Amino acid sequence: MKQHFDIAVFEGDGIGPEIMKPTLETLAHLSDAGAYRLDFNVVPAGAAHHAQTGESLPAASMTTARASDAILLSAMGLPTVRYDDGTEISPQIDLRKALTLFAGVRPVRVLPGQLTPLNMPDDKEVDFVLIRESTEGLFHTQGRGEVTKDEARETLLITRDISEKLFRFAFGMADDRKAQGRGKGRVTCVDKANVFRAFAFFREIFDAEAAKHPDLIADHAYVDATALWFVLKPWEFDVLVTENMFGDILSDLGAGLMGGLGVAPSADIGLDHAVFQPCHGSAPDIAGRGIANPMAMILSGAMMLDWLGLRHDAPALVADGIRLREAVETVIARGGALTADLGGSASTQDAADAVMAHLEIA
Ligand code: NAD
Repeated sequence: MKQHFDIAVFEGDGIGPEIMKPTLETLAHLSDAGAYRLDFNVVPAGAAHHAQTGESLPAASMTTARASDAILLSAMGLPTVRYDDGTEISPQIDLRKALTLFAGVRPVRVLPGQLTPLNMPDDKEVDFVLIRESTEGLFHTQGRGEVTKDEARETLLITRDISEKLFRFAFGMADDRKAQGRGKGRVTCVDKANVFRAFAFFREIFDAEAAKHPDLIADHAYVDATALWFVLKPWEFDVLVTENMFGDILSDLGAGLMGGLGVAPSADIGLDHAVFQPCHGSAPDIAGRGIANPMAMILSGAMMLDWLGLRHDAPALVADGIRLREAVETVIARGGALTADLGGSASTQDAADAVMAHLEIA
């Protein structure tokens, strides 16, 4: 059984290095105590790196990333660092395309005691996963859109190949969740098939995959109605799967339900590689002050342990992924070590120390 894992680490920009440091310490603590080893290889990329060197994602960093078992990334991009066409340096998106990370996994969990703008009935718990296609859709012409004095055009691309992989992944996830007793075994295709032919095509491919899973429930929802239901009855969802831009927007709405971006983890997964990173950006407005919330980054680390464990049949990693997620959820629910975005006054290190303390006693 594989016990040694190489992890490429992109510390990124802004608050990136501040939240990555305690995450690596926490993961190292778990692996030191467990029957496996994680070796972290920190590699450069990002907006600040581009400003210094003219390169946003060096070839050597890509080589390390490709050779690794998994990739941890904090956040990249700075509003002040832009290409000549006005768009931002965004190597995190380039990485998704280069490694064909088609499934953007965005878990949304709201547990009792958690800060949420929702008016939650006592008997409800929110626990669903939004899967955002991450390599095509409306991001297809990113950086290549046609702009003249009088018009601007971007092209939305949906391919059969990627859609089939995406839906297979979504049904697999619903199956796994059902087996763990966490989900209803339901997959919802979120689209705009009432208006756009591209989404009717997307839906047809979804239905073909759904037919292979008679034991799971498959249904459809329009993206605008889904936004409404995210707010009115999010406890009814299990696994949702959608196009890149729709997923980009809905995942921030999901983060809002959880109390903010500071607690929203994510993973971008393909057939051969996966990147684990928080949903948020580099938060330049609070960078350098030691007050960023590290929880989304730590939860992304927990997702990485889970993915590595399932992929390599290593139950110790799956167990540690669950322990780490539960430690973060306990610290948030108790409310003693919350950072400013969650209404507290804890520093990044205080919040991470509380997670570590919980892991030591749990
Ligand atoms: P952002 O997510 O960085 O920040 C939005 C707001 O949330 C800010 O007020 C910020 O302070 C707060 N916030 C975000 N993460 C937080 C955390 N961990 N703890 C406490 N507060 C937190 O979004 P933005 O301001 O639109 O973008 C800033 C930069 O990040 C831009 O250059 C953008 O392109 C980039 N970005 C990168 C990614 C990524 O790397 N995946 C994602 C989104 C944005």
